[in-house]
Amino acid sequence: MDCVDAIVIGSGPGGAFAAYGLRGKRVLVLDVGRDAPAGDRLSGNVYDLRRTRDDLFPQLIGEEFESLHNLYNRPISLKLKSPFMSFVVRDWRRLTPVVSKTFEGVISLAKGGLANAWGAGVYRFTDRDLRGFPISVEDLQPFYDELTSRIGVSGANDDLDPYFAHDDALLPPLALSPLFSDLLARYAQARADFVRERTFLGRPRLAVLTQPWNGRSAYQYENLEFFQPHIPAIYTPAYTIDQLRSEGAITYLSGRLVERFHERDGQVRVYARNLDTGEAEVWCGRKLCIAAGTLNTARIVLQSAAEYDKRLPLLDNPMACIPFISLGRIGAGLAANDSSLAQLNWIVDDLDSGETIQGTLYGATGPLRSDVLFTLPLSFRANLTLLKHVAPAAGLLMLFYPGIETPQSYVRLRSSGELEVEFAQTGGNPAIERKIMRLLRRIGYLSHPALIDRPGMGQALHYAGALPMRAAPGPFQTHADGRLSGTAHVHIVDGACFSRLPSKNLTFTIMANALRIGRRLARELS
Ligand SMILES: Cc1cc2nc3c(=O)[nH]c(=O)nc-3n(C[C@H](O)[C@H](O)[C@H](O)COP(=O)(O)OP(=O)(O)OC[C@H]3O[C@@H](n4cnc5c(N)ncnc54)[C@H](O)[C@@H]3O)c2cc1C
Repeated sequence: MDCVDAIVIGSGPGGAFAAYGLRGKRVLVLDVGRDAPAGDRLSGNVYDLRRTRDDLFPQLIGEEFESLHNLYNRPISLKLKSPFMSFVVRDWRRLTPVVSKTFEGVISLAKGGLANAWGAGVYRFTDRDLRGFPISVEDLQPFYDELTSRIGVSGANDDLDPYFAHDDALLPPLALSPLFSDLLARYAQARADFVRERTFLGRPRLAVLTQPWNGRSAYQYENLEFFQPHIPAIYTPAYTIDQLRSEGAITYLSGRLVERFHERDGQVRVYARNLDTGEAEVWCGRKLCIAAGTLNTARIVLQSAAEYDKRLPLLDNPMACIPFISLGRIGAGLAANDSSLAQLNWIVDDLDSGETIQGTLYGATGPLRSDVLFTLPLSFRANLTLLKHVAPAAGLLMLFYPGIETPQSYVRLRSSGELEVEFAQTGGNPAIERKIMRLLRRIGYLSHPALIDRPGMGQALHYAGALPMRAAPGPFQTHADGRLSGTAHVHIVDGACFSRLPSKNLTFTIMANALRIGRRLARELS
């Protein structure tokens, strides 16, 4: 059997950058690889489109009412349900089933993975974030730097530098929506009060271009993020996969559902189902990198070991969503050029827990009104009018708490092939939330604890920690190079190998770590 140098499973952030690191070797990427549907895409600014096009129903709602998903189902991220975005989560329940009483998340079987819909927030882990990892910032830094210059990261060096790391290679930050340029100015005036409370605001770091970069164009402020995939300015790993394919650096096979692997004679056999023909296939590689997303990576590893009793740990960030409003902006006109991307970050440096708690601030002009319409107490018409006037004045702070390892949060494979996924429920930290609301009030924004929404576990979509990296790994743990304990050539290159999950978006670190491991394997293969 012909054996390639390396097989990579998955084309999300982990898979794309493991493959990128392995450039120069014979690399085969196996992926389910669902892609965006063809059809009449929106082009232009959502504000103008709403005024000038008679009927946006097919693009915004969908012939099968896709965008109304949350009205009659368990809610999923508003970014995953519109007609052109729902491909990101298409087929996962059928092809990779999960049974759970507590899991409210999703799995992606798309080319580019969940990051087709991500907010593109890219944050370097600090040594504090990497506590418990057998690697340090020094190990990741060259790869963070390489990624920054490759994909383009916009942002600013500001009060958040100690938490995000100073970076001279940043592109200029995105222009702020009026609500948030006001908010930042008020923060600057009251900064001393914030600093006293060890609380800081600043610009997010986003894999979103504010100027043309490596053949991609700059962000156009069309506010289409909820409806339009593959916006060139917003990086997704599908771009890297396409580029590697066009260079001939990888062979990319979609429509393959990998089920298990087996090591024999210094090679790894990978067993997959061809989803088009239904036939079983076997592929051979000298190395295997698994980046099927933490849950499916755990499934493949457990299936390969025929292990149906073991509970692997599972992490996600518990969330609290804190809405707030500026009374002075109620009824203000909507900005024609706007964005649904992150506007600002909020950091609370919590001395009690020794953690920094990170949140992201978003505006309210991007989603459909039907996403909140039925949660308001007035009549349908009155709610519509209310929303129209309140949207320019309202913001949302999405707070991520660190992932907590407990026996109640685990993933286990059943012999039926279903994955059992359970999470302990958590209530957040009311003291931190009170502090945030106090400081918001101090600069003129209203909120109330009763308005805080706590999405179910899994909705942060930051799955990690099932096969953690350890200095001396035991069974179902990984070495510092992602190598699965007990194997010679199988490496875990997605969030599954995280040793812990701080209060910070994890994907930039998945990418940097996968690139680190891919490069190392390319050297070993030489
Ligand atoms: C709405 C939204 C917003 C987000 N915002 C951010 C953000 O701002 N910042 C951030 O850091 N993170 C964000 N995330 C999370 C981020 O997208 C994920 O952390 C990241 O995509 C995980 O990368 P991954 O490579 O581990 O796996 P995934 O992205 O899950 O990709 C998995 C890949 O594996 C393939 N695959 C799965 N199973 C199999 C199988 N059995 N056989 C073959 N192929 C398989 C899939 O087709 C896919 O290509 C967001 C996610 C969403 C949905």
